Amino acid sequence: MKDLRAELARAPRAVTSYVGGGFVATHGAPIPVIDPSTRAVVATLHEADAAEVDRAVAAASAAFETGPWARASVADRQKVLMDIHAAILDHADELAALETLNTGIPLRQTRGMHVPRAAQNFRFFAEFINQQGGDVYTQEPGYLSLVTYDPIGVCALIGPWNMPLGLTAMKMAGALAFGNTCVVKPSEITPLTLARLFQILHDRAILPDGVINLVNGSGAVTGAALSGHPDIDMVSFTGGTETGARILTALARGIKGGAMELGGKSASIIFADADMGRAVDGAMLGSFMNNGQMCLAGSRIFVHRSVADRVIDEFATRTKALRIGDPFDPETEIGPMINAAQLDRVQSYVASGLAEGAKLLAGGKPCEGSGGGFYLEPTVMRAPSNALAICQEEIFAPFATFQVFDDEDEVIARANDSRFGLVGYVWTQELERAMRVSGRLRTGTVLVNTPILRDLRTGFGGVRQSGLGREGAKGSRAMFTEMKSTIIALQPPALPRLGI
Ligand code: NAP
Repeated sequence: MKDLRAELARAPRAVTSYVGGGFVATHGAPIPVIDPSTRAVVATLHEADAAEVDRAVAAASAAFETGPWARASVADRQKVLMDIHAAILDHADELAALETLNTGIPLRQTRGMHVPRAAQNFRFFAEFINQQGGDVYTQEPGYLSLVTYDPIGVCALIGPWNMPLGLTAMKMAGALAFGNTCVVKPSEITPLTLARLFQILHDRAILPDGVINLVNGSGAVTGAALSGHPDIDMVSFTGGTETGARILTALARGIKGGAMELGGKSASIIFADADMGRAVDGAMLGSFMNNGQMCLAGSRIFVHRSVADRVIDEFATRTKALRIGDPFDPETEIGPMINAAQLDRVQSYVASGLAEGAKLLAGGKPCEGSGGGFYLEPTVMRAPSNALAICQEEIFAPFATFQVFDDEDEVIARANDSRFGLVGYVWTQELERAMRVSGRLRTGTVLVNTPILRDLRTGFGGVRQSGLGREGAKGSRAMFTEMKSTIIALQPPALPRLGI
């Protein structure tokens, strides 16, 4: 695996936009793309300015209005989605290695989970659209009322750096399945896998020109030009809450909608009757998978006082034993943080936690890792109250906080004491308690006795400042279609005749 990494790191890459069926020449402002495990520059991104974004939106718009895609049969769309699924799996090793190179996420996670999941998104929507129909109402005598779900048009799909391929593939699969065209904007920090996917799809000529377009560049330049463009019909965004608010403001000017998958600070509640082995395993995964850089991290952990010392001790001991290092090493459990800013940010939270009375139980400092990258010791703090900044703000790092609770009502109130509402985790062996607590948690998803399970049939998304809308199955249909009503007079009563 190390050879593969060296090869990838040596290969020069120029990341540009893909517009109307071809890659554009490199001319935009150069932005270095970094391998976070070595700080080496592995590619150069050429930023798309407003004019280039305009060309991409025009290509998507022309493909939508006059091309075959919006009118393609479900069978044709299914075939294309399955061809994309196959293309991703055929290139799974390469895509996983690129994702690891650019994000620092251990290869065993990108190869084992992220890339298969990216492919599965296309397969899922290929199957889903074959089962979907509209609605028919016959209650109005003499009339037939139909409800159909039309494609919405040009979709701007904007993704984050923490799982670039898997999360943006979900948006592409949903948008394409329902007959839309799109312009994709990855994070400037992690553009490599999506650029490679576009190259693979281009080489296989899977889609008509203009149906998928890619613009690369910073949020301030490329992202703002795309989300504020008058000719897009919606934005599907995954990223931070503050960016989501900026995009919604831009959309409001055009009276357009957006689906927002935003930040989280998810509570994980361990009751005294939980299967303690599974709860600790799950809380570790929920805090440290993806280098802890996960929107759904269940890293705000509440544990019942009667088992607190045992659980917290075991968690802190195992955190100190986590294998930190080269993300290409199959033994590595934690890779580097994404960049220096993130590394500094996390340390400022350790300082703020200590200043507010929290106790540091593990980690908290930069560490060697391998290759001089942005490595941080996974961190555990015990907090005296939920009001601390480390319990209220999304840290987006391998950083878990523990709080101790005494009863169910109290812990539900503290779990809900957050501006976010993405996921709630409940660890208990008592079914009634699981149902009772799940019902009262103010989150878009509740996971009971499991850390991370994404069932695409269900919707994923947040309440409060964690988002708007749901991704998956019917949630994606609502996001990527316009509901249209068509009322047909079959044997209607005579109309009143005006002007006679
Ligand atoms: P971010 O800074 O908000 O950026 C997300 C994307 O938006 C990037 O492509 C960014 O471009 C772009 N962007 C920035 N400003 C923009 C603007 N004014 N207009 C249009 N696009 C703009 O978030 P991030 O740091 O990449 O990702 C971490 C955040 O994502 C965390 O808060 C995490 O919880 C959230 N997240 C949520 C989910 C979910 O499903 N709810 C999943 C994963 C991550 P640049 O990066 O190039 O500036």
